[in-house]
Amino acid sequence: MWLQSVLSGEEAQSYPALQGQTETDVCIVGGGFTGFWTALELKRRTPNTKVTLVEADICGAGASGRNGGFALTWWAHLEHLVSLCGAEQAVQLAQRSEQAVRNIGEFCSQRGLDDAFRMEGWVWAATNPAQVGAWDQTVKLLEQLGARPYNPLTRTELMELTGSAQHLGGLFEPVSASVQPARIARELARAAHEAGVSVHERSQVRSIQHGSRTTVILEQGSIVADQVVLAVNAWAARIPEIGAGLVVVASDVIATEAVPERLSEAGIRAGVCISDGRRLVNYYHATPEGRIVFGKGGGTLGYGNRITPVFDHPGARERGIRAQLLRTYPMLWDVPVAESWSGPIDYSLSGLPFFARLQDAPSVLACAGFSGDGVGPSRLAGELIAEMLVGEGDASVPAGLRRVPARWLPPEPLRYLGGRVVRAAVARKEHSEDLGLRPRGADRFLAALDPTGYQYKGPGLPS
Ligand SMILES: Cc1cc2nc3c(=O)[nH]c(=O)nc-3n(C[C@H](O)[C@H](O)[C@H](O)COP(=O)(O)OP(=O)(O)OC[C@H]3O[C@@H](n4cnc5c(N)ncnc54)[C@H](O)[C@@H]3O)c2cc1C
Repeated sequence: MWLQSVLSGEEAQSYPALQGQTETDVCIVGGGFTGFWTALELKRRTPNTKVTLVEADICGAGASGRNGGFALTWWAHLEHLVSLCGAEQAVQLAQRSEQAVRNIGEFCSQRGLDDAFRMEGWVWAATNPAQVGAWDQTVKLLEQLGARPYNPLTRTELMELTGSAQHLGGLFEPVSASVQPARIARELARAAHEAGVSVHERSQVRSIQHGSRTTVILEQGSIVADQVVLAVNAWAARIPEIGAGLVVVASDVIATEAVPERLSEAGIRAGVCISDGRRLVNYYHATPEGRIVFGKGGGTLGYGNRITPVFDHPGARERGIRAQLLRTYPMLWDVPVAESWSGPIDYSLSGLPFFARLQDAPSVLACAGFSGDGVGPSRLAGELIAEMLVGEGDASVPAGLRRVPARWLPPEPLRYLGGRVVRAAVARKEHSEDLGLRPRGADRFLAALDPTGYQYKGPGLPS
């Protein structure tokens, strides 16, 4: 939906496929937010650095142009951050992630995209009794560390912010925005091009050869580079040492017809981002033109972490997502779904992205693992990657974020089959909780095996 509306309106700027042989200082693979923020940040720091960006499809065709449109911070991930980086650096990174959201807003206003970015805040809500207090541990940790990104909400305030009585409790984070992601992705491509980045669409990387310099091989050409950044999101999971830390699962989104009068009658405000506390998370917001965009995590699983065409559409799952939308906004019972789409999520086993150099090819840096929460954090990722490449060096990023998170998972086909069993158990557990019932013991047991729901409790958490 997002990308089509931009492409139909835009004076269809496209970028030529890479042909022949070329040399560059930094080759970025992937034309999404991570790739472009990195390219712009490299150019800002060292304008003479030659940067070449190659994208297999068109820029923004990946997750960046088809997400739910929430630009959030890392405060909700504080526990994971503390575990990986220690308390002090965790707080600094969370503060930087807050600045990252503001920086996206600044980019939008500088580039005339004010209507693509609305900082109306994020509600972390409970949509059934089992979810109430899901945030308690994070709030306790925030108090210990003296940070106050959230305000608790009363039921009345929740109703005013969300327009739904379904929210039983929640927190509000003002520094969060809803965005039209594809407009930002396409504008980033334009800005990078203007900054001197050599941008190439329809240029899929086939392989990478390592020697004294690194050669990136494409179908019709090659790029010799000093440094290579893999900003390919879930597609990085096909590289065994990166895939070991990732689980590829689709997220599915539906968007209703635009019904602005109905939303205003129902008291549903545009721009406020809402997520609930379930593992197969529901996330939704109303757009300025009057659609409800409603997404749900935990869709198709990738066999061997492969991304196949089933990752493009929710298929039969669309009905279940609509049912969740109507559970939240029953007054919209007659509003049709206008569009639905899906995309692969790079869930990392630590819950956070990592910035890892390949063991046998340290000039290749892979950034993946946004875990469905990369719209805001990819802006920060661009800064961190640039710091590693042309700034203070690798040590500027905490070591905990430079490792591929490790956890034993069974080989295929057990991994895929086991994943399906666990996901089905999580769905049954959450369905019981929606009905106010206690989930079956077997479902609770199986749901707890979800490797991406794993709560990292390594060193670094204050007692
Ligand atoms: C359905 C869905 C909903 C989401 N909702 C949210 C949300 O509401 N909020 C949030 O914060 N995050 C959300 N996310 C995640 C978020 O969109 C991403 O984390 C974020 O956009 C960062 O993306 P990226 O740049 O790392 O990857 P992408 O945007 O996926 O870019 C990677 C690019 O690499 C390209 N590529 C892959 N292989 C090759 C190759 N061999 N050669 C060249 N190019 C290649 C792909 O075509 C792709 O364009 C969602 C994701 C999906 C799929």
